[in-house]
Formats: sequence, structure tokens, C-alpha cells
Amino acid sequence: MASLVGEEPLSLTQELDLIAFGQRLRHLRKQRGLTLSDLGERVGRAPSQLSLLENGKREPKLSLLKGLAVALGVPVEELLRRQAPNRRAQLEMELEEAQRDPLYAGLGLARLKVSSRVPNDVLEHILGLYGELRSRQARGTATPEEARAANAELRRMQRERGNHFEEIEKAAAEALSAVGYRTGALSQSTVQALVTHFGYTVQTVQDLPRTVRSITDMRNRRIYVKHEQLGMHTPRTILLQTLGHLALGHHKPRDFADFLRQRTEANYFAAAVLVPEATAVPFLREAKEDRALSVEDLRDVFAVSYEMAAHRFTNLATHFLDLTCHFVRNDAGGIIFKAYENDGIVFPADEQGAIEGQRMCLQWSGRQVFRSPDRFSVFYQYSDSPTGTYFCVAHVDPSRERDFAITLGVPYRESRWFRGRETTNRTRSNCPSGDCCRRPPAELAQRWDGYAWPSARGNSHVLAALPPGSFPGVDEADVYAFLERHATG
Ligand SMILES: [Zn+2]
Repeated sequence: MASLVGEEPLSLTQELDLIAFGQRLRHLRKQRGLTLSDLGERVGRAPSQLSLLENGKREPKLSLLKGLAVALGVPVEELLRRQAPNRRAQLEMELEEAQRDPLYAGLGLARLKVSSRVPNDVLEHILGLYGELRSRQARGTATPEEARAANAELRRMQRERGNHFEEIEKAAAEALSAVGYRTGALSQSTVQALVTHFGYTVQTVQDLPRTVRSITDMRNRRIYVKHEQLGMHTPRTILLQTLGHLALGHHKPRDFADFLRQRTEANYFAAAVLVPEATAVPFLREAKEDRALSVEDLRDVFAVSYEMAAHRFTNLATHFLDLTCHFVRNDAGGIIFKAYENDGIVFPADEQGAIEGQRMCLQWSGRQVFRSPDRFSVFYQYSDSPTGTYFCVAHVDPSRERDFAITLGVPYRESRWFRGRETTNRTRSNCPSGDCCRRPPAELAQRWDGYAWPSARGNSHVLAALPPGSFPGVDEADVYAFLERHATG
């Protein structure tokens, strides 16, 4: 407290906790049975000035500090002790600090003025809630661990059901039948009719907040979308995903797992509308009979992205074609962004069973396709693995802003139903435990060991903790401002 002997006015903010000081002052004054006026008279100040001190809103000058110490009959040090004089004062002090926290203030509650009538246990209760609020804020909505666990759980559920969700197929079929869909790819006018069927209108805007694909104004029943095409998230798909949330009666997500499940269901709904079960199943059955199953035909007939066609194939394959299969989406570096299997293939996984973010074997088709002379044509390959041989079809979708390989694979015996089965491409993988691709050849290892210093490229954007909020990654303030602007404009 060296600065206390310095010049006035004191700059005490570093040394003196104003709240604690105020608490202590009030405590000592009351202990001596003095009112604010009484004490004010003794130190020659207005009661309102002392009140400001007691509420931690003013810094005392050194002269006043000395005067107060004399008036209260304590050494100056006693007034300046950091520790609260008692439990009650400690609680009041903590609540005072809590209410000044922007996080607390952000709740928009009326300021709680703590009179002596508010009992200690009420203060303790409020502070307990505040403590929890803080720790939840610190945790965010989803840690990478929670996100991975939620993904693993979702995949387990999908596998259990052969990735076929009866109730979503039903909702999609009902919506399609309501607007008179009969067969083939979905026209723009049918999409429009679906939006109308759900009682909504579409508005194309340029100022959609950056963190969202679309916003639904449920009060005015409008869906706002951006004009531009966003890779596979075309306005058509985005609209149908939005309708999916409405058709499936989704509520505000409770947690990340809930958010993930809803998003997956909405995507499923969009795919089930764009590639309707009633039309796609006969088409695929015929292709199977002709031994000409292929993802690209499904893509072309229904005018969807390759990824959606491949994913949709997994929805229908087990249930209607009696096939097990796997699906992977990975980048050029082999990092897996999305995966599904019910054919026994073993994906690389972390201790929690999470596949997303893992690097897959160099021998797998999703990586080999990047090495093929024409990476954008469909690549066929047989892959021998510790759990058997698989026939895999991989494709890098050129319409995407970033290169991702989409792989659809089936066990060897099922290759006979697929186009491309005559391929001579064949690799052997010992992964995830083998040394087919992870360990460098001995000669190279000898030459370069100790001479390599690579700088890693961040790959965490799919796995990073998502910013907190009911809709992870979405800036709610931005969204509300947008809605307000457009609802009134
Ligand atoms: Zn390998």
C-alpha cells in the first residue's frame, strides 16, 4: 500500500477493492450504531457522499480515509483490509460483483438491491446460480469431446436402423403427396408448392447474417435465404432442410447432441423429398437387377449433389436392396469429416469412438482417388482390409468449393450389383493398426529422421468447440437484428 502515503487523489483501483472497502466501512459504521448522517457530521461530508463510498462507487481520498479511521476508532489498515468483515458482507460483496459482470447483466434482469431484508440463504442461492452460469459459459455449448461423443452416439443409432428413418420418410412422402408430386426429380415449382403447403413464403435477401444458411421468421411465416449458391447447400436444399425442421416439429435444441440430431433429421428430410423413396426404390431395384447400381445415376436422375445421392443410397440400401455399405467424406489430406458404416469396415477412431477428424488409410479409395489421373471422374477400387475385401466407389465432387472425396463402399460379394466392378484397381490396407501407410519406409526414415520440422495446418474447424448458444455457431443477436429489420421493413 505504498501509494497511500503519496499525493492525493489516490489512485487506489489497483490496491483498493472499492466494494470490499465499502462493505467494511458500512459494517464498522453500523457496528458503532452510526447513521450515514452521524458519520458524515464527524468527517464533514454529506451522507450521500458516504453512501457512494459504501456502495463502492467512489474512491476515498487519503484525507477522508484518515478522517473515517479516526471517526470509527480504527487504524486506516483496518478499513483497507481486503477480507470482508463477515459472511453477510462477503455475500453482499460477491453479489455486487456478480451484478457488474456483463454475463450477469446480459440476462436483462432488474438490478437486485440487497436490503437487510434479503436473507443470507437467498443470496447464497443466487450466487450459486451465478457460479453455474459462469462455469457453463466457460464450457461453451459443446467441447470437442462432447461434439465427438454426440457424433459417435448418432452414428450408433443410424447403424442400428440401417440408416433408414421410417418416420422421416413418412413425413417427406406426406408433404410430397400434399403438393401432388408424382415422379422424377423435384421441380422448382414443387419446392415452391411445398413452402406454400407449410404456410410460408420465401424471401431472397443479400444481408443474411454470416453465421446462418437461412432464417425462418415463425411470426410472419417467412423463410429468408441468400441469393447465391453455396456448394451443395443450394437454396433448394436449404429450404427443404428448413421445412424439415417444421415438418418434424423440432423445438429449440437442448444441447449439442439435440442440435446435431435435429440437423441430421432435417438433412434427411431434405434428401427424402429430393430423392423420394417411392420413386428411388423402384429405380434402384431395377438398377440392381441390371447389375448397374451407381451413385452417379441416382445423382443425375434426381438432380442432386453426388454427396446427397451417395448418402441417400445408404438410407435405402439396407432396407430395400438387402445391402450393407459404408459412406465416407474426407478431404485431400485424408481427414474424415463424415462417415457411416454397417458393413463391418473399421474406421480409424479415437478412444471415444469418434471418427471425425481422424486420418484414414492411404490405401483406401477416398485417398487413392486424389492420386488418380482424373480425380474428378468416378474411381473404382477393391480394398483388402483386416475385416475383408470391399468394393469402393470414390468421387471428388468438382462443384464444391473445396475438394472432398465421397466414397460409397460395399462388401466384396455385393460388387456384382455395381457398375465398375470390372476394375483392376486393388490395394491392401492393414489400418487402423497396420503399418501400410503411417510409418515411412526405413530408408527414408533413416535419411530424414531429425531433419524434418513440419508446421501443421489447422484442421480443427469441424471439431473445434462451437461458440455457445442454443444454435451452436449462430450469432443470435445478429439473427434477431436481421429479423427485426426485415419484419418491419
Ligand atoms: Zn494404412
